[in-house]
Amino acid sequence: MEYGILLSEFIQTLAGTDNSLAIIAQAFAAVAEQYGIGELKGTFSAPPGMCNRQGEERADVLYSNGASVDRSTEYCNTYRTGENGIVSFFIYKLQGKPAFTEEEKKELKPFFDALFIHFGRYRMIHSLQRMGITDNLTGLPNTGGFMAYINECVRKNELTQYNAFYFNLERFSLVNKRFGVNETDKIIIRYAKELSRFLVEGECLGRMGGDNFVALIQKARTYEFLELIAGVKTFGIIGNQEFPVIVSAIAGVIEIDESVEHGGMVMDDCRMAYNVAKYSENKAYTFVSQEIKDRLYKEKQYASRFADAFEQKEFKTYYQPKVQTEDYVIVGAEALVRWEHDGKLIPPGDFIPVFERNGMVCKLDFFMLEQVCKDIKRWLEMGMEPVRVSVNFSRMHLTNPRLADEIMEIMRTYETESKYVEIELTETVDEAESERLIAFMNRMKECDVAMSIDDFGSGYSSLNLLRTFPVDVLKIDKTFIDTIGRSDRIVLSNIIRMATELEMDVVAEGVETWEQLEYLKQMNCNVVQGFLFDRPMPREQYEIKLQSKAYNPELICKSE
Ligand code: C2E
Ligand code: MG
Ligand code: MG
Repeated sequence: MEYGILLSEFIQTLAGTDNSLAIIAQAFAAVAEQYGIGELKGTFSAPPGMCNRQGEERADVLYSNGASVDRSTEYCNTYRTGENGIVSFFIYKLQGKPAFTEEEKKELKPFFDALFIHFGRYRMIHSLQRMGITDNLTGLPNTGGFMAYINECVRKNELTQYNAFYFNLERFSLVNKRFGVNETDKIIIRYAKELSRFLVEGECLGRMGGDNFVALIQKARTYEFLELIAGVKTFGIIGNQEFPVIVSAIAGVIEIDESVEHGGMVMDDCRMAYNVAKYSENKAYTFVSQEIKDRLYKEKQYASRFADAFEQKEFKTYYQPKVQTEDYVIVGAEALVRWEHDGKLIPPGDFIPVFERNGMVCKLDFFMLEQVCKDIKRWLEMGMEPVRVSVNFSRMHLTNPRLADEIMEIMRTYETESKYVEIELTETVDEAESERLIAFMNRMKECDVAMSIDDFGSGYSSLNLLRTFPVDVLKIDKTFIDTIGRSDRIVLSNIIRMATELEMDVVAEGVETWEQLEYLKQMNCNVVQGFLFDRPMPREQYEIKLQSKAYNPELICKSE
């Protein structure tokens, strides 16, 4: 073929596409035939730079006609790229052909120039595409890249071989503080490299930005991987000195089954699993089983049904009496919420934690207080003498600076005297929260509304903490009552003694047996609440109890 036509066709074929190296083989075939070339090879090496923090090295056979070549005929053309990289093209004659003449080399030079331009365009487009799916710092796939990889696995029907992980590095902000941003970036790169070493063919590690990572790991290697991410040893440098850093992660793991259709589903479930892990104490990971998935699904349903349930008046106020141990007289009650839905009664333990997480619990608590105030008004109008009713308030309320005012507003609306209402809050260890709790308690004291600490002894109770709280009532958690008769009772009797010294009333919760009641009496606990007397009940039933004022001990003994 005439030289001019050959060159022009070569350039035109390359120009027809910008994103493929494969086209080179097609374009080069005629050139190879003309010059007796058996192979065209390209190499590229670039130092680490803006677009690629790891640098790049590659070598590709761009054309080969399959026949053997004579390596001694090598002819090479080298070019420098903008980012200080080097591109080289090598050609080899077919076995038995003479070496390239100077004339041939001169003629072939424009072909290499065209190849270099094509390669430059190819790289530019690919780095743009790559930047879209790659984390710039570590070179790992980013969210988009990881999802694309999962989608590819789904397409190839290979995804169910793997489990998916979402993990976050624990206390990484401390590493940041200690080593500074630049060195922390390097620690993340070392960490990613360390994890990448673990991967085998088909597995994938991605970085979602910050200290959030994702991985797709073969099912059989799940626990091995969890063990690895529980503590990865790496190091950070300050000055010239290396300091060991152990990076541990909290992970959510999901077992991938046939129901997973695309990367988005994996990411959603993984994040959900991670959130469960994050909020589970002392747990480095959570394996999201079908059971947890069902529960999370149910929780989502609860959250989305909340507004409707309110509208449909599905939340009911139940009352559980508090009984004086001395004479079995009802001296108080606790208001406990119940959710009546589809003819079923959902216990608060199922939905309160959900509503606490999304903040809806506040509305519910105010609603309960309002119901209690309404009922008290009703009883007074009926000529009954009500007893004080305690209403549970979630600690979520403590960030509301108007909490006390809002409580008082509701009580004013129903003309409720303060002596009929008590507010229950659970204990806390958080210092900032403690301060808000004390401020709130003081406000309630000014308004003459009683305050109780609920579930005392179930968390990080501290008797000393009690001294700083202006508390009227201490509610001892059921777990303490359950140990009566088994473990030593010194702790319990001391709590009761100390509370009494601090002029607090003590209510023992969850009293179920006569034996427990006897012990509590001996320990000078004057008020109890529990199934021994009654379970929480609807208002109508409670009104009957309230009218009879006291329990008959004979009946209690018999019913046991
Ligand atoms: P809590 O405030 O500690 O309420 C006492 C719980 O112990 C109630 O469970 C009650 O039914 C149960 N209980 C009482 N005596 C016995 C007994 O002898 N044996 C056993 N096994 N259990 C007994 P319930 O009604 O399921 O409520 C659970 C928790 O849900 C409450 O614990 C409280 O923390 C929360 N809760 C209930 N209603 C509300 C509400 O209106 N607002 C908020 N924020 N939380 C609520
Ligand atoms: Mg309570
Ligand atoms: Mg309690």
